[in-house]
Amino acid sequence: MMVVQLRYNFRVTPDAAQRTALAQAFGCARVVFNDGLRLRQQAREAGEKYLSDGDLSKLVITQAKATEDRAWLGEVSAVVLQQALADLNIAYRNFFASVTGKRKGRKVAPPRFRSRKDSRQAIRFTKNSRFKVLDNGRLRLPKIGDLPVRWSRTLPSDASSVTIIKDAANRYFASFVVTVGEDEMLPPVEPEIGIDLGLTHFAVMSDGTKVTAPKFLRRAARKLKRLQQALSRKTKGSNRRKKAVIKVARAHARVADTRRDWQHKLSTAIIRDNQAVYVEDLCVTGLGRTRLAKSVHDAGWASFTTMLEYKAARYGRTFARVDRFFPSTRMCSDCGRITEKLALNVRAWDCPCGSHHDRDVNAAINIKAAGQADFNDRRAQVRPGLVPAPRSEAVTRQNAARATRSVAGIAVL
Ligand SMILES: [Zn+2]
Repeated sequence: MMVVQLRYNFRVTPDAAQRTALAQAFGCARVVFNDGLRLRQQAREAGEKYLSDGDLSKLVITQAKATEDRAWLGEVSAVVLQQALADLNIAYRNFFASVTGKRKGRKVAPPRFRSRKDSRQAIRFTKNSRFKVLDNGRLRLPKIGDLPVRWSRTLPSDASSVTIIKDAANRYFASFVVTVGEDEMLPPVEPEIGIDLGLTHFAVMSDGTKVTAPKFLRRAARKLKRLQQALSRKTKGSNRRKKAVIKVARAHARVADTRRDWQHKLSTAIIRDNQAVYVEDLCVTGLGRTRLAKSVHDAGWASFTTMLEYKAARYGRTFARVDRFFPSTRMCSDCGRITEKLALNVRAWDCPCGSHHDRDVNAAINIKAAGQADFNDRRAQVRPGLVPAPRSEAVTRQNAARATRSVAGIAVL
């Protein structure tokens, strides 16, 4: 049976005492993480062998608590400290896997020290910590208290962990990881679809549907830009600047939230209506360095395709990325003839076979056909392993050893 893990985020509103307790827990988790990192770095510089996870835990948690310097570590939940160390261990493992080439994709940097000034602070509670959602809807966290939660939907089942996050706008979130079974999957449907991610439209589907990013998003982005300019004029270290920083962070968070909501609606509709979804494998990081950067990041395709990917896994649909080795735009989807290069402003073209093509719809049809062919050949460009964890929700294929790992990966939230 296929089992997936989903992440549910809710705003929490701790009172002053709870905020103080949270700040202390963020601090302790950071100290344990940094102590562990320092010990491993020192061992490496001294030419000693890599400190095992178990040894490190003894040194920076168990033994540290007994010292005068670190006695205060005993005042927060031990699980929070262990999970901070687990983050460090994962960061090291990812780094090693990247160095040795076991991990594909972007190079992973070695772990870095965490700072009080990091814009996101996070701590994680697992089942062992006995966190609990109370009947009154509050979230009980050990040594923190009962936090009010703004529930916007119900959790489909008990959460296996909860991460408490404080963002740059000084907002607090509870991010629950919930395991969902196959029985909650959608009934199968007939249609399959290819999606072309373009510059004139956010997305164009093989059935001819064109989706444009809503105007309100563009407006919010413009407002954000004005606030950022205002910020740059404020004197460093001044109170006005501090206020402006928070204002920018809030506006930024609002733009991100709005975009995420819109993308959630769109991706849910696509997954609900189609049995298989194929998208071109855009090298977004590569594109990001060109002058297209701004529009690419505004469009947020990476987060959108990630949503499609995990929702497909969640609801039992097929999702595949199609390698862009073939000229999806220039190939006639009727006869397969390849026409000469099309300038960006050419929106429609005619093939000698008599077919008239809308540039983007034709590309989407080709993507769909390539995806289906790949998939039938069992050479689908489906990424193996974990589905990357987006900020708001994440899913991983159930795998006992790696389940918490994926969550750990989000510690840099
Ligand atoms: Zn043709």
